[in-house]
Amino acid sequence: MAKQQSFADKAAKAALMKGSKCPTCGEIYQPILMVTSEKSTVTGSWKFSERRVQVCKCNEKKVYA
Ligand SMILES: [Zn+2]
Repeated sequence: MAKQQSFADKAAKAALMKGSKCPTCGEIYQPILMVTSEKSTVTGSWKFSERRVQVCKCNEKKVYA
C-alpha cells in the first residue's frame, strides 16, 4: 500500500504543477507549441524554431495574432 500511496502523491503533485494559474486573470495556463519561421541572414534559408508558450487570457491575443 505504501507504494500506491506515493504514486498517488506524485500524480497529485504533477497535476498541481501542470495547472499553474496566472496571477493576473486566474486562468490556467495552456501550454502550446509555437512554430516560428525565420530567414537566416547568413545562409538565406528558412529555418523553423519551436518554442513552448504558456497561454492565458492576458496574452492569448498576442500569441494567436
Ligand atoms: Zn493571465
